[in-house]
This record gives sequence, structure tokens and C-alpha cells, in this order.
Amino acid sequence: MSTTITIKNLTKRFGDVAAVNNVSLTVEPGSFLTLLGPSGCGKTTLLRCIAGLEDPNEGEIYVGDKLVYSSARGISLPPGQRDLGLVFQNYALWPHMKVDKNITFALEIQKLPKDEMRKRMLEALAEVQMEGFEDRYPREMSGGQQQRIALARMLAYRPKVFLMDEPLSNLDARLRMDMRAELKHLHHISGATTIYVTHDQVEALTMSSAIAVMKEGVLQQLGTPDTVYRYPSNLFVADFIGNPKVNLLEGVARDNVVEIGSFAIPTAGTKAAGPVILAIRPEDISISMVPISGALECNVYSVLPAGADTTVVVKSQKLEITIKEPGTSKVAMDDKVWLRFDPNMINLYTKETGSLIAS
Ligand code: ATP
Repeated sequence: MSTTITIKNLTKRFGDVAAVNNVSLTVEPGSFLTLLGPSGCGKTTLLRCIAGLEDPNEGEIYVGDKLVYSSARGISLPPGQRDLGLVFQNYALWPHMKVDKNITFALEIQKLPKDEMRKRMLEALAEVQMEGFEDRYPREMSGGQQQRIALARMLAYRPKVFLMDEPLSNLDARLRMDMRAELKHLHHISGATTIYVTHDQVEALTMSSAIAVMKEGVLQQLGTPDTVYRYPSNLFVADFIGNPKVNLLEGVARDNVVEIGSFAIPTAGTKAAGPVILAIRPEDISISMVPISGALECNVYSVLPAGADTTVVVKSQKLEITIKEPGTSKVAMDDKVWLRFDPNMINLYTKETGSLIAS
């Protein structure tokens, strides 16, 4: 049983700053929606508004059919009446309670039978790889361990909706990978609607069924990870998502090519004309070690092997272009190489507004 969350024209101001600015979005039942954006873009504030921890200035929020906030109708239900589960970055565990009590406290309020509470507590500890920690106080654990206990508490509670604010931020890289897989699997089996806040675009791409990218309180794009990665709706989204970053090249579009200085890049029948920014991901450019007609001649500036792939940075006159090759690259520093751009993977943006005009 999962729930839709609907947000309509939501605004939350702190003084002159609109931390959330007229945001409307629907979180489909059972989906895993990530709010993604740089520090200060308003993602935590939006999550707190949904949770009932922050009172917005305008708009409406529905959890399922239940109107939990409406500025026009003067409705603002307290967090406890919204049927949500929360894990926040500062994972506030009760300091005077041991792990077992921290996890079962909310279940006692629900008046669950004792053996059911214990079963859920032990299952949740196993899910976050913290078996055997039930007798520790929060102060007797590391920050990452406390964060996992906060997650276990939420899992044991089994809410209809999970709200999570950077729940993996305190974990080391390896454990974060494990926990991503664990959380994604748990979402798959629980089917609970999940809203997840992160500034980490890799986390957003790997975990989500939908991503909402925010900038300065404004929703920039809502789409599947694939859509947001392949067809970013503006230059901000294109630049924010992807590692290494997308290549953005200024040029002039005409007759199915983009002219960049004296070089013309074919663009697979896109209709744009005039000044544009061409965007192409590093993995959509191929490198030839021998001259090919129509390819851009460049000098290799840097080669960055990373095991599974290699990032190559090349220069040609004023252009700097990044290419990602699978495995170990054959190219070396100072080599002369020729680049080919996959015409089907090119997006064009207006120079003035940065909006997507052709893909
Ligand atoms: P981070 O990733 O750094 O946590 P965020 O995207 O979650 O950032 P918010 O914490 O939602 O961003 O903050 C959005 C904006 O609102 C920021 O400009 C922030 O300074 C401001 N803000 C947030 N909370 C308050 C508050 N209680 N009082 C005043 N301004 C606030």
C-alpha cells in the first residue's frame, strides 16, 4: 500500500529568501523521488515542509487524499498526523536510550506486541548491518553507526512514506555503496513512496525512479534519471549532473551542423539556427589515434586512468574537451588525437536562457 504525495505551488520564504519558490510536483505511489541540487537550493526546506517541520507561506500539500497543508484553507497538520517516517542528516537519536529502545520507542506508542517489536528491531538492525549493537548508547557509537541506527529505526516503523535527508552522508565511501544497494532493495520490497534529499548526483542517478533538480528554490526539471541525464532541460541541469562534467561548446547552428570556429560538428537533423551551446557527454566522444576526415584534431593535455575507465582531457585552440573511455586508454600525454562526436547524443541550448532547444 503506497501513497501519492502532491505538492501544489508551494512557497517557503525566510525573510527575503524564497527557499522554496512556487514548486509543484507529484510523487507517484511507490516511487523513489530524489530532490537534488547544490547546497542552499531548498531541498531540505521542501522536505521539512512535507514533513510538517516547517510552515510554508503558500500552496498545498497532500499525502494521499489527505490535505496536510493548505495556506488558503488554514490547514497545517502536525508531523505526527501525516503518517510519515523521517531520517534526517543529524539522525537525532535519543541520547539516554540504548539502541533497542531508540528503535522500539515509536513502536511502543503504536502499541505493538512485545515480540513483534523485538522481531522488527532485530530485522532492522540486520538490514543496516548493525547486529549486536542493541545494548549500546548513541555516544558509544561512531557518527556513521548512529546514522545506520536512525535508518533502522525508520525501517522498523514501516511508514507509508519515507522521507530521508542525506541519510548516508556520514558513511565512508564503501559503506555508502553497500547502504545504497540495501536501501534500494528495501524500497523495492516495501514499495513505500520515498522522498530522498541529496546533493550527490551519482546517488540520485543510482537510487531514484524520479529526480527533481532544484536551483535557488525553483524546480528545474522532474524526470527519470535517464531523461534528466540524457535530456537535461537547461544548462544548469546538464552541468550539475554527470561526472566527469558534460562538455559545453559555444557555436553557431546551421544546416544540421554546429560550427565551432572553423570546425563543423554534425548534429543529426536538429532544426536549430543561430548561436547555441552544444552539450555532449564525455562518453559520447570517441578518440582516434590516426587522422579521420571530419574529426577534430586535438592535443592530449591529461590522461586520468581510474581502473574501469579513463578520463582524457584534450585541447584544440581555445577548446578544452573531456572524453571518457572504457577501460585503459591507449592515449598518452601530448599525443595528437582526432575526436568524433556522436551526432545522436548532442543537445543544443539557447545562449540567452540556457533552455534545451534540440536533442
Ligand atoms: P544543503 O544541501 O546545504 O543542506 P539545501 O538545498 O537543503 O542545502 P536549505 O537548507 O533548504 O537548502 O536552504 C535553502 C535556503 O534557505 C538557503 O538559502 C538557506 O540559507 C535558507 N534557510 C534555510 N533554513 C533557514 C532558516 N531556518 N532561517 C533562515 N534561512 C534559512
